[in-house]
Order: sequence, then C-alpha cells, then structure tokens
Amino acid sequence: MLQRKATFRSRQGAVDMRGRINPALLIIGLVAALMLLAVARQLGLVTLPPHYDPFSPPDLRERPYWLTSTKLLVLDNDPAACSAALAQAGLNGILLPPANQGRACHLDATVMLSRLSGAAIRQEQTRCSIAARMYLWDRFVLQPAALRHYGQRASEVLHFGSYNCRTIHNSSHMSEHATANAFDIAGVRLAGGRVISVKKAWTAGGTDAAFLRELRDGACGDFNMTLSPDYNADHADHLHVDMGWLHGCH
Ligand SMILES: [Zn+2]
Repeated sequence: MLQRKATFRSRQGAVDMRGRINPALLIIGLVAALMLLAVARQLGLVTLPPHYDPFSPPDLRERPYWLTSTKLLVLDNDPAACSAALAQAGLNGILLPPANQGRACHLDATVMLSRLSGAAIRQEQTRCSIAARMYLWDRFVLQPAALRHYGQRASEVLHFGSYNCRTIHNSSHMSEHATANAFDIAGVRLAGGRVISVKKAWTAGGTDAAFLRELRDGACGDFNMTLSPDYNADHADHLHVDMGWLHGCH
C-alpha cells in the first residue's frame, strides 16, 4: 500500500515520498523559476548582487564557479555586455563594425584580440564571446598548467587564426571559422622561450603531451566544441575550439 502511494505521489511532484527526484519536473521548475526571476529583474522588483545574478555578465577575472557558464551566455547574446566584460578584464573590448562577405561568411560582434590574461597572442579578429573564453582558458587552464608542469608561465599562445571564410574540410557545411566563431590553437611558448607545439608534442609522450591534453580537457569546459589530434588528421597540428551549436570534447 505504501509502495503504491509512493508511486502515485512520484507522478505529482518533483520529489516523491522516498525523496527521489523527478528530473523532468525539476528542470521545468528551475526554468519557470528563472523566467520569473528574469521578469521580476526586468521590472526592477528584484535586485541581486552581480555574483548571484545569472543574468548579469561574468567578471572574467573571477575563478569560474557554478553560475559562470550561465553568465557566459549573456556575453554570447549581448555584444555590449561582452565588450564591457573584456574591458573590465583589461582587454580591448572595442566592437568592430559588422561585415558580410557572402557565402554565409560574416563578422558580427567581433573584437581585435591581441593579448589574453597572462599570455600574448598574435593579433586576431574574433567574436567577442570567443575572446572572453580564450581569456578564461588562459587564466584558469593554461597558466596554472604551465606553472604545474614547467614551473614557469606561458608567455604566448600560438595560433592559426579565427576567421576564415570556408567550409568544413571535405564537407559542404560552413565552418564556425566562417563567422570567426572559432579559434585554432597551434601551441604555447613558455616564459623561458621553449615552444610546445601540438604538431610535435601531442604524440611525443611525456610531460609535453600530458600538458597539451590538460589544455584540451580544460578547453572542453570553456567552449562548446573542442577538437584535438585525437579527433582526426585534420586536427593533427592544432586544438580547434568553437562556440557553435554542436557540443563535443574530442
Ligand atoms: Zn578550427
């Protein structure tokens, strides 16, 4: 009897009599609560401190925490907020004029990225939200990993660029590079001058290979898609990261 009652209740609420959580109802409840919060916030009925406000842009200098991925969505959808977040972190947040170059190639909400948190980077035009994530990856993945593995900071991120009006190799689909919504990381220069390239070090084993895998795994937490040499031969010499619709970590 108790069993039947518990089963019946489980269909009614997010938590049944045994304390089991109904995931679907929980998600619906959370979404409804977020929507209510958004409306209340818009009407000025609720004011949350920025640290606890899921609709306020993140402070990129702040160590990522449970709300960071939600707050980063604000940067993806609000170029002005993204620009301000980059400026707050000490980067060039000036948004460049949009440009449509045909073949589904267009530049929108882009900035000129010329440095990261600790590492330099050869100047490259990229989407603001990509720049923000590159900054986070440098600050909270690359620099700690370089210190741990080599006892020195990373001085430069070497790359193959962001914008490239092209399709995916051997495909008719446009690449995320066609909208500068991606970045190709070729390697890292350490403060002492040594270069660790994906092309040479990925398969070399030892510390360099472990270091690069840590950079790949960390990028998976910052970007929607991360592709390494483990994915296919097209990525044998770089880590591809992007903020497209598809999610993956390879
Ligand atoms: Zn790429």
